[in-house]
Amino acid sequence: MFEEKGILFILSGPSGVGKGTVRQRLFEQETHLKYSVSATTRSKRPGERDGIDYFFKTKQEFEEMIKEKKLLEHAKYVNNYYGTPKDYVLEQLELGNDVFLEIEVKGALQVKENFPEGVFIFLFPPSLDELKNRIVSRGTESNELVVNRLKEAKKEIDMMSEYDYVVVNDDVDVAVSKVKAIIKSEHCKRERIEKQYKKILEDDTNVRTIN
Ligand code: 5GP
Repeated sequence: MFEEKGILFILSGPSGVGKGTVRQRLFEQETHLKYSVSATTRSKRPGERDGIDYFFKTKQEFEEMIKEKKLLEHAKYVNNYYGTPKDYVLEQLELGNDVFLEIEVKGALQVKENFPEGVFIFLFPPSLDELKNRIVSRGTESNELVVNRLKEAKKEIDMMSEYDYVVVNDDVDVAVSKVKAIIKSEHCKRERIEKQYKKILEDDTNVRTIN
């Protein structure tokens, strides 16, 4: 009733930590959330659909989007571009809908610079060995790519300090329930509620002055 703009949630963390799984499970349960579909230049994996999993772009198309400032953030990750289309996010927030991004950490840090009022959640692996197993057991990547992804992951873990919340992903359902709890608590934040009440009182004062 008092809600104004939606809240931007950013789920980020090392490659292979299970961001995609947590996000999918969360979206099965939280239908009010809007997922921001990213653009990428990486090739489609089996089963992926354009416009649903990603907007699949050529390098040239992607660089055009960068030039035209159509992206809220973008990053090169393992030789491919990934980015968040800006208009969709801003439109949905304006409509009062919560928007959810699932992105790697360099992009998340850019969002933090441009949109500090976002809520930043770091999904953390139970251990680095576990993380390695998950990346290797995915089985769709070459050895070199696995090593690259692990190197990225180590750097990413150092960036935890930039985040508002950390969720350890040792069990998907537990991790999802923690993310849901974060969403709920953010809606109960004093700063947000207070602003909304003050606005209602201001509106009321204006009406009285007119009468
Ligand atoms: P994948 O190729 O496995 O789908 O994704 C590789 C990485 O890119 C994952 O960590 C994923 O979260 C991240 N990613 C997906 N979309 C975006 C995006 O729009 N921006 C950024 N910076 N990273 C993204």
